[in-house]
Amino acid sequence: MSEQIYDCIVVGAGPAGLSASLFLARYRRRVLTFHHNSPRNIYSHGVHGFLGHHGIMPTELLERGRKEVTDHGGLIVEGCVTKVERIADDLFRVSTGDGKIVGQSFEAHRLILATGLRDLTPDCPGFTDFYGLSVHHCPDCDGFEVRTSASPCSDTAKRPSASRSTC
Ligand SMILES: Cc1cc2nc3c(=O)[nH]c(=O)nc-3n(C[C@H](O)[C@H](O)[C@H](O)COP(=O)(O)OP(=O)(O)OC[C@H]3O[C@@H](n4cnc5c(N)ncnc54)[C@H](O)[C@@H]3O)c2cc1C
Repeated sequence: MSEQIYDCIVVGAGPAGLSASLFLARYRRRVLTFHHNSPRNIYSHGVHGFLGHHGIMPTELLERGRKEVTDHGGLIVEGCVTKVERIADDLFRVSTGDGKIVGQSFEAHRLILATGLRDLTPDCPGFTDFYGLSVHHCPDCDGFEVRTSASPCSDTAKRPSASRSTC
């Protein structure tokens, strides 16, 4: 059981969770962020179209984000949150079941779920060998880079509404 009550617990340390954590820390809130190392864009070979960070590797972006959060006083721990309970009007308890912190509980007045989403990729042999390299799902993320090649892309990208991103 944790000894202190945090102002906020953030579940998920992707770009969304880390952005929330950074601002909470900048507002001098006691923030605890759970980092479970399986970012959505792990197959990406460079983040595209993110202003000021074009081409950065996803792992580097997250590493920098984690450092910015901790530099501002935020606490990041590696652990997978497996249970969330509201134990009072103004109090949440989260418990971990995997990662470096196992079987512990932490409490906070506020809770942010920034767990992202999971892509359902085609069940086709070798898919992950090419995903993010020559197979792409998002015209916003990679369309420009593959504009002259015949890269396979998701169904969404083939429709006239190709500008609709799946991200
Ligand atoms: C192949 C690919 C390429 C992409 N390329 C680009 C690009 O070029 N440009 C661009 O702008 N966007 C790109 N994207 C989209 C981008 O990755 C997402 O928009 C972004 O990752 C969403 O951030 P997020 O923080 O919401 O979620 P995520 O990045 O998925 O982060 C959520 C985090 O929460 C963690 N988590 C989940 N459940 C728990 C739990 N119970 N306990 C603890 N932690 C948990 C996950 O492990 C994960 O690390 C790409 C996506 C993919 C799949």
